[in-house]
Amino acid sequence: MKKNMMMLKKKFKNFNPKIKEECGVFGISNNNDASALTALGLHALQHRGQEGCGIVTFDGDQYHSEKRFGLVGDNFNKEKVLKNLTGKYAVGHNRYSTTGGTTLRNIQPFFADTNAGGISISHNGNLTNAITLRSKLVKEGAIFHTTSDTETIVQLIAKSKRNKTIDKIIDALFQIQGGYALVMLTQKNLIGVRDPFGIRPLVIGKLNNSYVLASETCALDIIGAKFLREVENGEIVLIQDDKIESIKPFPEQKVRPCVFEYIYFSRPDSILNGKTAYEYRKNLGVELAKEDNVEGDVIVPVPDSGNAAALGYSQKKNKNFELGLIRNHYVGRTFIEPSQKIRSLGVKLKLNPNKTSIKNKKIILVDDSLVRGTTSYKIVKMLYDAGAEEVHVRIASPEIRYPDFYGVDTPTKKELLAANKSNDEICKYIGAKSLKYLSIDGLYKAMGFENRNNTYPQLTDHYFTGDYPVKPMDNLGDDKITQLSLLSTGSNS
Ligand code: AMP
Repeated sequence: MKKNMMMLKKKFKNFNPKIKEECGVFGISNNNDASALTALGLHALQHRGQEGCGIVTFDGDQYHSEKRFGLVGDNFNKEKVLKNLTGKYAVGHNRYSTTGGTTLRNIQPFFADTNAGGISISHNGNLTNAITLRSKLVKEGAIFHTTSDTETIVQLIAKSKRNKTIDKIIDALFQIQGGYALVMLTQKNLIGVRDPFGIRPLVIGKLNNSYVLASETCALDIIGAKFLREVENGEIVLIQDDKIESIKPFPEQKVRPCVFEYIYFSRPDSILNGKTAYEYRKNLGVELAKEDNVEGDVIVPVPDSGNAAALGYSQKKNKNFELGLIRNHYVGRTFIEPSQKIRSLGVKLKLNPNKTSIKNKKIILVDDSLVRGTTSYKIVKMLYDAGAEEVHVRIASPEIRYPDFYGVDTPTKKELLAANKSNDEICKYIGAKSLKYLSIDGLYKAMGFENRNNTYPQLTDHYFTGDYPVKPMDNLGDDKITQLSLLSTGSNS
């Protein structure tokens, strides 16, 4: 395996085995405004990735593609660009990536000609056997143009010996592993796929005679589409004009949606399993308040990630909620910048203390999660510098001890604070007076369950528990593998 990886690194200068995508996908059928509606849908999904965006359309004869670095609104607002994207079918993609691989080639949707016709593909998620598959394909003569795991899917589809496009796709899906939501455009169908555990999200909407596929319901709202349902785990939906068909080729698995979509990633107004992410997050704050007995004067959220939880916390405690930090909205999310150096600068660029509401106050500072501690460290210092008397940090999710492999950018175990330090050590590191995380049971209570053992669905919550629904086949780095080999709670695969 190590040899394979070295070979890949040598062959592809930009190849980074840790490359991961945390993206937004969108697709629409049967609509004269397909490209403009896709641009709007991607704009609503902008929080899922800000590095690049792309739209591919099909006009019944030809595919058209436009890909750009940067934000959707800066790139697809021009009549000029959208004019080139003719056709009643479209797929789109917002890209997020961690270090490496920042080239136009890696921006999706990808397109390939196969012997069954053209196919375009948008992917949110991360394959856990992409390196293994890629090195096998390269040995067999495949030429890769990108460093993205998504291209592996394209190659597998193109290589399949089956005749019909949908059979080629199923062939490829049986070979890939991990968390994925795919939106594809063949010459006949708009296609949506969710991985067998439903780790990554995908929803279906209807707009007059068009079907819409999107990572989140907020992308349906923006174009006035009606939310019909989520694509189920392991389901493929085949859309042709205004008809939809469902196929379930995989052995049945219990659905395991990613808990981080609830905690952080999805937009607050998006609906997940019947409720808005906002409702869940407020509940997380309520449960955190129930578990906490710290004395403070004001509850201050880390904007915007801690807003809903801080509100829930303050309502439960019946204590003042203050906007003690003001956010500059013209800077992207802290994490979105690929390198640690830029990331730490990002906090300074983004937030400023609201001095009069924090001076001489005992502050209960609420955020959704603590990963590397970069955000908390900066903010705690900022609040003390602005005259706070005490800063107590409260985190509306449990300690993140395990890395992710399914498309959420959590770092390796080495960088995860809670994997390496005790609560007291972390508290000291971020400079707070006290630090408390929500318990696992509190997390599940906020989701509407009694505790972790009594839930449906069981969430993909490996971040806190180490319970991975799909164990990676690829060697993703020593600390990740060591940690995996110690697993005793992994399930199913
Ligand atoms: P850190 O500063 O490394 O402790 O990261 C925690 C901050 O980053 C919190 O404010 C979160 O809202 C945010 N965050 C947590 N997880 C992610 C993620 N996977 N991608 C982007 N941002 C995140």
